[in-house]
Amino acid sequence: MTMTRIYLDHNATAPIRPEAARAVGRALVQGGNPSSIHTEGRKARATIERAREDVAALVGAQPKNVFFTSGATEALNLALTPSLQAGCDARPWRLYVSATEHAAVLMGHRFPEDAVEIVPVKPNGVIDLDALAKALEQHEYSRPLLALQIANNETGVIQPVKAAAELIHGRDGLVVSDAVQAAGRMPVDIETCGADLIAISAHKIGGPSGAGALIRRKEAIHIGEPLVRGGGQEKGLRAGTENLASIAGFGAAAEAIRRDLAADVSRLESQRERLESGIFGIAQDVVVFGAAAERIPNTVAFAVPGVVAETALISFDLAGVAISSGSACSSGKVKNSHVLDAMGVKPDIRACMLRVSLGWTTSDADIERFLEVFAQLRANTSVAGKVLAA
Ligand code: PLP
Repeated sequence: MTMTRIYLDHNATAPIRPEAARAVGRALVQGGNPSSIHTEGRKARATIERAREDVAALVGAQPKNVFFTSGATEALNLALTPSLQAGCDARPWRLYVSATEHAAVLMGHRFPEDAVEIVPVKPNGVIDLDALAKALEQHEYSRPLLALQIANNETGVIQPVKAAAELIHGRDGLVVSDAVQAAGRMPVDIETCGADLIAISAHKIGGPSGAGALIRRKEAIHIGEPLVRGGGQEKGLRAGTENLASIAGFGAAAEAIRRDLAADVSRLESQRERLESGIFGIAQDVVVFGAAAERIPNTVAFAVPGVVAETALISFDLAGVAISSGSACSSGKVKNSHVLDAMGVKPDIRACMLRVSLGWTTSDADIERFLEVFAQLRANTSVAGKVLAA
Protein backbone atom coordinates (compact mmCIF):
# COMPACT_ATOMS: atom_id res chain seq x y z
CA MET A 1 0.00 0.00 0.00
CA THR A 2 1.41 3.43 -0.84
CA MET A 3 0.87 6.11 1.74
CA THR A 4 0.05 9.68 0.73
CA ARG A 5 2.63 11.89 2.36
CA ILE A 6 1.63 15.13 4.02
CA TYR A 7 4.23 17.87 3.87
CA LEU A 8 4.03 20.41 6.69
CA ASP A 9 7.58 21.76 6.61
CA HIS A 10 7.28 24.75 4.27
CA ASN A 11 9.66 26.83 6.40
CA ALA A 12 12.46 24.38 5.59
CA THR A 13 11.62 24.47 1.91
CA ALA A 14 8.34 24.79 0.02
CA PRO A 15 7.33 22.33 -2.69
CA ILE A 16 7.89 23.89 -6.10
CA ARG A 17 4.86 25.65 -7.57
CA PRO A 18 3.80 24.39 -11.01
CA GLU A 19 4.33 27.84 -12.54
CA ALA A 20 7.89 27.87 -11.20
CA ALA A 21 8.64 24.33 -12.37
CA ARG A 22 7.41 25.24 -15.86
CA ALA A 23 9.55 28.38 -15.91
CA VAL A 24 12.61 26.39 -14.82
CA GLY A 25 12.00 23.82 -17.57
CA ARG A 26 11.54 26.51 -20.21
CA ALA A 27 14.73 28.33 -19.16
CA LEU A 28 16.76 25.11 -19.18
CA VAL A 29 15.66 24.38 -22.71
CA GLN A 30 16.10 28.01 -23.74
CA GLY A 31 19.71 28.24 -22.50
CA GLY A 32 21.87 31.20 -23.47
CA ASN A 33 24.25 33.36 -21.50
CA PRO A 34 22.56 36.62 -20.48
CA SER A 35 25.83 38.48 -21.08
CA SER A 36 26.08 37.40 -24.75
CA ILE A 37 24.94 39.90 -27.33
CA HIS A 38 23.55 37.42 -29.87
CA THR A 39 19.87 36.50 -30.01
CA GLU A 40 20.18 33.57 -27.58
CA GLY A 41 21.98 35.80 -25.09
CA ARG A 42 19.43 38.57 -25.40
CA LYS A 43 16.58 36.09 -24.85
CA ALA A 44 18.29 34.83 -21.70
CA ARG A 45 18.77 38.45 -20.56
CA ALA A 46 15.06 39.10 -21.14
CA THR A 47 14.20 36.08 -18.95
CA ILE A 48 16.40 37.40 -16.14
CA GLU A 49 14.97 40.91 -16.38
CA ARG A 50 11.40 39.62 -16.38
CA ALA A 51 12.17 37.66 -13.20
CA ARG A 52 13.77 40.76 -11.70
CA GLU A 53 10.54 42.67 -12.33
CA ASP A 54 8.45 39.92 -10.71
CA VAL A 55 10.68 39.67 -7.64
CA ALA A 56 10.74 43.46 -7.32
CA ALA A 57 6.95 43.64 -7.58
CA LEU A 58 6.55 41.09 -4.78
CA VAL A 59 8.17 43.50 -2.31
CA GLY A 60 7.29 46.85 -3.89
CA ALA A 61 10.87 47.54 -5.02
CA GLN A 62 12.27 48.93 -8.24
CA PRO A 63 13.72 46.21 -10.50
CA LYS A 64 17.06 48.04 -10.68
CA ASN A 65 17.41 47.53 -6.92
CA VAL A 66 17.10 43.73 -7.06
CA PHE A 67 20.35 41.72 -7.09
CA PHE A 68 20.18 38.00 -7.69
CA THR A 69 22.29 35.68 -5.55
CA SER A 70 22.43 31.93 -4.95
CA GLY A 71 20.01 32.19 -2.03
CA ALA A 72 19.21 34.23 1.06
CA THR A 73 22.31 33.12 2.94
CA GLU A 74 24.49 34.69 0.29
CA ALA A 75 22.28 37.79 0.12
CA LEU A 76 22.58 38.31 3.89
CA ASN A 77 26.33 37.66 3.89
CA LEU A 78 26.58 40.22 1.10
CA ALA A 79 24.56 42.88 2.90
CA LEU A 80 26.04 42.59 6.38
CA THR A 81 29.41 44.15 5.73
CA PRO A 82 31.34 47.04 7.25
CA SER A 83 31.97 48.21 3.68
CA LEU A 84 28.35 49.43 3.34
CA GLN A 85 28.02 52.94 2.01
CA ALA A 86 25.04 55.27 2.21
CA GLY A 87 25.37 59.04 2.32
CA CYS A 88 28.52 60.70 3.66
CA ASP A 89 28.45 59.72 7.35
CA ALA A 90 32.06 58.69 8.02
CA ARG A 91 31.52 56.92 11.37
CA PRO A 92 32.45 53.21 11.43
CA TRP A 93 29.55 50.77 11.39
CA ARG A 94 28.47 48.88 14.47
CA LEU A 95 26.27 45.84 13.88
CA TYR A 96 23.28 45.09 16.13
CA VAL A 97 21.83 41.63 15.66
CA SER A 98 18.63 40.39 17.21
CA ALA A 99 19.22 37.21 19.22
CA THR A 100 16.76 35.11 17.23
CA GLU A 101 18.20 35.75 13.76
CA HIS A 102 18.93 32.85 11.41
CA ALA A 103 22.47 31.47 11.30
CA ALA A 104 22.85 33.16 7.89
CA VAL A 105 22.91 36.44 9.85
CA LEU A 106 24.42 35.41 13.18
CA MET A 107 27.30 33.59 11.54
CA GLY A 108 27.19 35.08 8.06
CA HIS A 109 27.90 38.76 8.72
CA ARG A 110 31.32 40.14 7.82
CA PHE A 111 32.01 42.24 10.93
CA PRO A 112 34.84 41.82 13.45
CA GLU A 113 33.59 40.44 16.77
CA ASP A 114 34.16 43.67 18.71
CA ALA A 115 31.87 45.61 16.35
CA VAL A 116 28.89 43.33 16.91
CA GLU A 117 26.25 43.40 19.62
CA ILE A 118 23.47 40.86 20.16
CA VAL A 119 20.16 42.45 21.11
CA PRO A 120 17.98 40.33 23.40
CA VAL A 121 14.38 39.36 22.73
CA LYS A 122 11.55 39.29 25.25
CA PRO A 123 9.99 35.95 26.33
CA ASN A 124 7.42 36.31 23.53
CA GLY A 125 10.27 36.34 20.97
CA VAL A 126 9.98 40.02 20.07
CA ILE A 127 13.14 42.16 20.08
CA ASP A 128 13.60 44.24 23.22
CA LEU A 129 13.50 47.77 21.80
CA ASP A 130 14.47 49.34 25.14
CA ALA A 131 17.63 47.23 25.17
CA LEU A 132 18.32 48.30 21.59
CA ALA A 133 17.83 51.98 22.47
CA LYS A 134 20.19 51.65 25.45
CA ALA A 135 22.85 49.91 23.37
CA LEU A 136 22.61 52.65 20.73
CA GLU A 137 23.12 55.36 23.34
CA GLN A 138 26.35 53.75 24.45
CA HIS A 139 27.88 53.87 20.99
CA GLU A 140 27.14 57.31 19.63
CA TYR A 141 30.40 57.45 17.73
CA SER A 142 29.57 54.52 15.52
CA ARG A 143 26.90 54.23 12.86
CA PRO A 144 24.29 51.55 13.59
CA LEU A 145 23.44 48.72 11.24
CA LEU A 146 20.61 46.57 12.54
CA ALA A 147 19.92 43.01 11.39
CA LEU A 148 16.31 42.29 12.27
CA GLN A 149 14.29 39.62 10.51
CA ILE A 150 10.69 40.31 9.57
CA ALA A 151 9.49 36.89 10.76
CA ASN A 152 11.23 34.08 12.57
CA ASN A 153 11.65 30.73 10.85
CA GLU A 154 11.15 28.65 14.01
CA THR A 155 8.31 30.42 15.80
CA GLY A 156 6.83 32.65 13.10
CA VAL A 157 7.10 35.66 15.44
CA ILE A 158 6.89 38.95 13.53
CA GLN A 159 9.39 41.61 14.55
CA PRO A 160 8.58 45.33 14.90
CA VAL A 161 10.95 46.28 12.08
CA LYS A 162 9.34 49.66 11.54
CA ALA A 163 9.65 50.72 15.19
CA ALA A 164 13.23 49.46 15.36
CA ALA A 165 14.03 51.27 12.11
CA GLU A 166 12.87 54.57 13.62
CA LEU A 167 15.52 54.19 16.32
CA ILE A 168 18.17 53.26 13.77
CA HIS A 169 17.28 55.85 11.15
CA GLY A 170 17.25 58.51 13.89
CA ARG A 171 20.97 57.81 14.18
CA ASP A 172 21.59 57.75 10.44
CA GLY A 173 21.87 53.96 10.44
CA LEU A 174 20.49 51.23 8.18
CA VAL A 175 18.33 48.17 8.70
CA VAL A 176 18.88 44.82 6.97
CA SER A 177 15.88 42.51 7.20
CA ASP A 178 15.80 38.82 6.52
CA ALA A 179 12.41 38.56 4.82
CA VAL A 180 12.82 34.88 3.89
CA GLN A 181 9.90 33.58 5.95
CA ALA A 182 7.78 36.70 5.62
CA ALA A 183 7.63 36.64 1.81
CA GLY A 184 4.52 34.83 0.70
CA ARG A 185 3.16 34.60 4.26
CA MET A 186 2.39 38.30 4.75
CA PRO A 187 2.60 41.46 2.65
CA VAL A 188 6.16 42.81 2.50
CA ASP A 189 6.70 46.30 1.12
CA ILE A 190 10.24 47.64 1.14
CA GLU A 191 8.97 51.22 1.02
CA THR A 192 6.97 50.93 4.23
CA CYS A 193 8.40 48.05 6.28
CA GLY A 194 11.32 50.04 7.68
CA ALA A 195 14.11 47.96 6.17
CA ASP A 196 16.70 49.43 3.82
CA LEU A 197 17.88 46.09 2.49
CA ILE A 198 15.96 42.83 2.48
CA ALA A 199 16.86 39.27 1.56
CA ILE A 200 14.50 36.66 0.14
CA SER A 201 14.90 33.11 -1.07
CA ALA A 202 13.29 31.32 -4.02
CA HIS A 203 12.97 27.88 -2.44
CA LYS A 204 10.96 29.17 0.54
CA ILE A 205 8.25 30.60 -1.69
CA GLY A 206 7.71 27.71 -4.08
CA GLY A 207 10.56 28.47 -6.43
CA PRO A 208 13.63 26.28 -7.03
CA SER A 209 16.69 26.27 -4.81
CA GLY A 210 19.75 28.10 -6.10
CA ALA A 211 18.29 31.60 -6.30
CA GLY A 212 17.73 34.40 -3.85
CA ALA A 213 17.87 38.16 -3.88
CA LEU A 214 19.24 41.11 -2.00
CA ILE A 215 16.92 44.06 -2.53
CA ARG A 216 17.68 47.65 -1.60
CA ARG A 217 15.15 50.38 -0.91
CA LYS A 218 17.09 53.05 -2.75
CA GLU A 219 19.93 53.29 -5.19
CA ALA A 220 22.05 55.34 -2.82
CA ILE A 221 22.88 52.26 -0.72
CA HIS A 222 26.08 50.55 -1.87
CA ILE A 223 27.48 47.27 -0.64
CA GLY A 224 31.11 48.22 -1.23
CA GLU A 225 32.76 44.80 -1.05
CA PRO A 226 31.14 42.05 -3.15
CA LEU A 227 31.43 38.48 -1.94
CA VAL A 228 31.85 36.81 -5.31
CA ARG A 229 34.30 38.68 -7.52
CA GLY A 230 35.13 38.30 -11.18
CA GLY A 231 32.77 39.32 -13.96
CA GLY A 232 30.51 42.34 -13.91
CA GLN A 233 27.18 40.53 -13.52
CA GLU A 234 24.52 42.04 -11.26
CA LYS A 235 26.15 45.45 -11.65
CA GLY A 236 29.42 44.06 -10.38
CA LEU A 237 27.87 42.98 -7.08
CA ARG A 238 27.74 39.26 -7.81
CA ALA A 239 30.12 37.88 -10.39
CA GLY A 240 29.44 34.69 -12.31
CA THR A 241 27.08 33.64 -15.08
CA GLU A 242 23.54 33.95 -13.78
CA ASN A 243 21.62 30.83 -12.75
CA LEU A 244 19.09 31.34 -15.53
CA ALA A 245 16.74 28.46 -14.70
CA SER A 246 16.56 29.11 -10.96
CA ILE A 247 16.11 32.83 -11.46
CA ALA A 248 13.33 32.20 -13.99
CA GLY A 249 11.60 29.90 -11.48
CA PHE A 250 12.09 32.47 -8.71
CA GLY A 251 10.35 35.10 -10.81
CA ALA A 252 7.45 32.78 -11.63
CA ALA A 253 7.00 31.87 -7.95
CA ALA A 254 7.07 35.54 -6.97
CA GLU A 255 4.41 36.33 -9.56
CA ALA A 256 2.20 33.47 -8.36
CA ILE A 257 2.51 34.58 -4.75
CA ARG A 258 1.59 38.15 -5.55
CA ARG A 259 -1.52 36.90 -7.32
CA ASP A 260 -2.56 34.51 -4.54
CA LEU A 261 -1.30 36.25 -1.38
CA ALA A 262 -4.58 37.57 0.03
CA ALA A 263 -6.38 34.23 -0.45
CA ASP A 264 -3.38 32.25 0.83
CA VAL A 265 -3.10 34.32 4.00
CA SER A 266 -6.76 33.95 4.87
CA ARG A 267 -6.65 30.16 4.22
CA LEU A 268 -3.49 29.82 6.31
CA GLU A 269 -5.04 31.81 9.15
CA SER A 270 -8.04 29.54 9.36
CA GLN A 271 -5.92 26.39 9.01
CA ARG A 272 -3.62 27.57 11.79
CA GLU A 273 -6.60 28.30 14.01
CA ARG A 274 -7.93 24.76 13.47
CA LEU A 275 -4.46 23.31 14.01
CA GLU A 276 -3.91 25.14 17.29
CA SER A 277 -7.36 24.49 18.68
CA GLY A 278 -6.98 20.83 17.68
CA ILE A 279 -3.59 20.56 19.38
CA PHE A 280 -4.97 22.16 22.57
CA GLY A 281 -7.94 19.81 22.48
CA ILE A 282 -5.60 16.81 22.44
CA ALA A 283 -2.95 18.03 24.88
CA GLN A 284 -4.02 20.73 27.34
CA ASP A 285 -0.45 21.06 28.65
CA VAL A 286 0.86 22.14 25.24
CA VAL A 287 3.01 25.29 25.05
CA VAL A 288 2.84 27.34 21.82
CA PHE A 289 6.00 29.40 21.41
CA GLY A 290 5.51 33.05 20.51
CA ALA A 291 1.73 32.76 21.07
CA ALA A 292 1.77 36.10 22.87
CA ALA A 293 3.22 37.87 19.84
CA GLU A 294 2.03 38.57 16.33
CA ARG A 295 3.01 35.65 14.08
CA ILE A 296 2.96 34.78 10.39
CA PRO A 297 -0.08 32.60 9.74
CA ASN A 298 1.71 29.48 8.52
CA THR A 299 3.89 28.61 11.50
CA VAL A 300 3.09 26.84 14.77
CA ALA A 301 5.95 25.93 17.08
CA PHE A 302 4.87 24.00 20.15
CA ALA A 303 5.95 21.52 22.77
CA VAL A 304 4.16 18.92 24.81
CA PRO A 305 6.20 18.41 27.99
CA GLY A 306 7.59 14.87 28.02
CA VAL A 307 7.10 14.25 24.28
CA VAL A 308 10.69 14.50 23.01
CA ALA A 309 11.03 16.07 19.55
CA GLU A 310 13.28 13.44 18.01
CA THR A 311 10.88 10.59 18.90
CA ALA A 312 7.84 12.58 17.82
CA LEU A 313 9.40 13.49 14.47
CA ILE A 314 10.07 9.84 13.71
CA SER A 315 6.52 8.85 14.69
CA PHE A 316 5.06 11.56 12.46
CA ASP A 317 7.33 10.57 9.61
CA LEU A 318 6.36 6.90 9.89
CA ALA A 319 2.72 7.99 9.78
CA GLY A 320 3.45 9.94 6.57
CA VAL A 321 3.61 13.44 8.01
CA ALA A 322 6.70 15.63 7.52
CA ILE A 323 7.21 18.23 10.23
CA SER A 324 10.35 19.53 11.92
CA SER A 325 11.75 20.44 15.28
CA GLY A 326 12.77 23.98 14.38
CA SER A 327 15.22 25.07 11.75
CA ALA A 328 16.52 22.54 9.25
CA CYS A 329 19.96 21.64 10.51
CA SER A 330 22.65 20.79 7.99
CA SER A 331 23.60 17.69 9.97
CA GLY A 332 20.01 16.41 9.71
CA LYS A 333 19.87 16.11 13.51
CA VAL A 334 17.52 17.75 15.98
CA LYS A 335 19.54 20.62 17.40
CA ASN A 336 19.14 22.86 20.38
CA SER A 337 17.16 25.95 19.37
CA HIS A 338 19.01 29.25 19.97
CA VAL A 339 15.68 30.95 19.28
CA LEU A 340 13.91 29.28 22.20
CA ASP A 341 17.04 29.72 24.27
CA ALA A 342 16.92 33.48 23.63
CA MET A 343 13.23 33.47 24.63
CA GLY A 344 14.20 31.94 27.97
CA VAL A 345 12.56 28.54 27.34
CA LYS A 346 13.93 25.86 29.69
CA PRO A 347 16.06 23.07 28.15
CA ASP A 348 13.59 20.26 28.98
CA ILE A 349 10.82 22.09 27.07
CA ARG A 350 13.18 23.12 24.26
CA ALA A 351 13.92 19.44 23.69
CA CYS A 352 10.23 18.90 22.93
CA MET A 353 9.80 21.62 20.32
CA LEU A 354 7.96 20.69 17.14
CA ARG A 355 7.35 23.03 14.23
CA VAL A 356 4.51 22.69 11.80
CA SER A 357 4.74 25.05 8.84
CA LEU A 358 1.95 25.27 6.29
CA GLY A 359 2.02 26.60 2.75
CA TRP A 360 0.53 26.65 -0.69
CA THR A 361 0.00 22.87 -0.85
CA THR A 362 -1.69 22.57 2.56
CA SER A 363 -5.30 21.36 2.58
CA ASP A 364 -7.77 21.21 5.45
CA ALA A 365 -7.53 17.41 5.21
CA ASP A 366 -3.78 17.64 5.87
CA ILE A 367 -4.49 19.45 9.14
CA GLU A 368 -7.03 16.81 10.19
CA ARG A 369 -4.55 14.00 9.38
CA PHE A 370 -1.86 15.76 11.40
CA LEU A 371 -4.23 16.00 14.36
CA GLU A 372 -5.15 12.30 14.08
CA VAL A 373 -1.47 11.31 14.19
CA PHE A 374 -0.82 13.73 17.04
CA ALA A 375 -3.74 12.31 19.05
CA GLN A 376 -2.35 8.81 18.55
CA LEU A 377 1.14 9.91 19.56
CA ARG A 378 -0.25 11.66 22.64
CA ALA A 379 -2.23 8.57 23.64
CA ASN A 380 0.86 6.37 23.26
CA THR A 381 3.12 8.71 25.22
CA SER A 382 0.53 9.16 27.99
CA VAL A 383 0.26 5.38 28.34
CA ALA A 384 4.04 5.07 28.34
CA GLY A 385 4.19 7.81 30.98
CA LYS A 386 1.63 6.03 33.18
CA VAL A 387 3.42 2.70 32.85
CA LEU A 388 6.70 4.36 33.79
CA ALA A 389 5.10 6.12 36.73
CA ALA A 390 3.46 2.93 38.05
N1 PLP B 1 16.80 33.16 6.78
C1 PLP B 1 15.80 32.40 7.23
C2 PLP B 1 14.83 32.98 8.22
C3 PLP B 1 15.67 31.09 6.80
O1 PLP B 1 14.67 30.34 7.26
C4 PLP B 1 16.63 30.59 5.87
C5 PLP B 1 16.58 29.17 5.44
O2 PLP B 1 16.42 28.29 6.23
C6 PLP B 1 17.64 31.44 5.41
C7 PLP B 1 17.69 32.71 5.90
C8 PLP B 1 18.64 30.98 4.40
O3 PLP B 1 18.04 30.90 3.14
P1 PLP B 1 18.70 30.08 1.93
O4 PLP B 1 18.36 28.64 2.13
O5 PLP B 1 18.08 30.66 0.69
O6 PLP B 1 20.16 30.34 1.96
